[in-house]
Amino acid sequence: MEGLESFKKVSGLMVSTHKSMIFFCNTNARTKATILQRVQFREGTLPVTYLGLPLITKRLSKSDCAPLVERLSGRANSWISTSLSFAGRLQLVKATLVSMQVYWCSAFLLPVSIAKECDRILRKFLWGGQGRGKVKWIEVSKPMAEGGLGIKDLKTWNRALLLKQIWEIVINQSLWARWCHVYLIKQSNFWSLPTIGLHSWSWRQILLLRPVAKEHLIYKCGRGDKFSLWFDPWMHGESVHILYGNRVIHDSQLGRLALVKEVIREGRWDWPANSTDLVDIQISVQDIPISLTSDSIFWGQLGYSFSTKLAWQSIRARSAEVSWHSLVWHPARIPKHAFCLWLTMRRAHRTRDKLLDWGVINSASCVFYCGEAESLEHLFFHCPFSQNIWGAVLSMCNILRPISQWSDEVQWMLDHAKGQKFPSLVRKLAFAASVYHIWLERNRRCFKNEFMPANEIIDKIKHDVSLKLWLGRKSQRCERHHSLCENWDIPLG
Ligand SMILES: [Zn+2]
Repeated sequence: MEGLESFKKVSGLMVSTHKSMIFFCNTNARTKATILQRVQFREGTLPVTYLGLPLITKRLSKSDCAPLVERLSGRANSWISTSLSFAGRLQLVKATLVSMQVYWCSAFLLPVSIAKECDRILRKFLWGGQGRGKVKWIEVSKPMAEGGLGIKDLKTWNRALLLKQIWEIVINQSLWARWCHVYLIKQSNFWSLPTIGLHSWSWRQILLLRPVAKEHLIYKCGRGDKFSLWFDPWMHGESVHILYGNRVIHDSQLGRLALVKEVIREGRWDWPANSTDLVDIQISVQDIPISLTSDSIFWGQLGYSFSTKLAWQSIRARSAEVSWHSLVWHPARIPKHAFCLWLTMRRAHRTRDKLLDWGVINSASCVFYCGEAESLEHLFFHCPFSQNIWGAVLSMCNILRPISQWSDEVQWMLDHAKGQKFPSLVRKLAFAASVYHIWLERNRRCFKNEFMPANEIIDKIKHDVSLKLWLGRKSQRCERHHSLCENWDIPLG
C-alpha cells in the first residue's frame, strides 16, 4: 500500500479501492487473508477480460474462448436472416468476422479446436445451411490469385502473429520485449533457451517457432556491438554454438556472454586460434563484412523490417497461380457475377450430371429442352439456348467467331480480354454476366418452374454491363468506341 501511496503522490492518480481487484496465484490461504486485509481490495478470479479479451497467462481453454465463438456466431446469425448474395456474405466475412478473429489472434495463440470452430462458423455463414461448401475450405482460404477467395486461414495467421512476438524479442525495443529479456531470458540467450521447463504455454509456443523465425531473420553484422558471439544466428544464418557446440566456447576462453566485437580487431576478424574449430571459424567468417555501423536485424531481406503480412506470406502453404484469376477478380467486376464465374472456373456448380451421379435426381436432361444431358460444358455454351445468348453477347462486343467448348472459350477470353482497356473491360464484364444470367435462368427453371426467353436474358446482361460501365465512368473514353457503346446502350459520356 505504501507503494501505491507514493505512486499517487508522484502521478496524481488515485487508486479507487472499490474498483480494484487483486489476483493470487500460488499463494497459501493465510498469506492471502493477510494481504486482503491490508489492501482492502476484492479478490478477483481469472480470467478477467480487458477490452473484451481474457487476461490470462496459461493456455487459453475452450471456455476462455467462448466469448469469441459466441460473438462470432452471434454476428453471423444476425445477418443470416437478411437475404444477402454470396458476394455480400463474402464481403462481410472478410471485413468483419475475420477481423474479430485477428483481434484475438494478435493477443493469443488460439487453441486448434477454437480455430476450427471459428472456421466452421465462417464456413456455415458463407455457404449457408450446414456449411457444406461447393468448394473445400482449404481451397477457399487460398489467395485469389491461387484460385481461392482470399479468406485467411486462422492457423497460419496465428503463427504469423507469434513470429511478430519473436521479432519484438530479437529487436528488443518494446516494453514487453524488455520484460521478456529480464524475466524470461535473463542471462541466457533467446536462441539457446530450452523449450522444456516451467514456461507458460504461450511462451513455449514462441520458443517452438524459433526455427521458422530463423529462416527469415537476417542478422547483419556491423561492428559486432550487439550480437551474442555464440548464440545469435549471425554466421551465415546460424549461430556458432549450433554449428560447433559448447567446446569452442570453452576453448576460446571468451565466456558465454561475449559479443561479436570481441573477435574483431582493427576492422578484421581475429578469432583466438586455440583449437582447430576456432581456426576453422576464423577462415569461414572471412566473407562476412565488418563495418562501423551497429549490428542490425532484418526480416526476409536486407533493409526490411517485420510485417505480419510479410510473415504470413512466407509461412503459408503456396499453390500455383491460376491463369484465370484476373478474368474473374478484375477491379471493375460485378461481385455476384464474379463469384458465379469463380464457381464455374472451379467447376463447383452442382450441375444435373453431378446430381444424377450422387443419386439426387433421376435424369440429367437439360432444362432448356435440347434433349441433351446438362453438364458444365453443356451449359457454357454448348447448349443451343446458351449458345444463342453467348453468340448475341459476343456480337455486341463486335466479335464474330464460332463458339467452341468451355475451356477454349476461357482461353480465348484470357488471350483477348487482357488489361483494363475499354474493349477488354466490356468483354470481361460480358463474359461474367452471361455465365451468371444463364446459370440464374437454369436455376429458375429447375427450382421455380419459371421461364425467361433468351432475348430477355440478353437484355439483362446488357443492362448489368452497361450500368456498370456507366457508373464506373468508363464511358468517357467512349467516342473512340462508338459502336461498342451503341451496341451496349451505354450513354455517351
Ligand atoms: Zn441444353
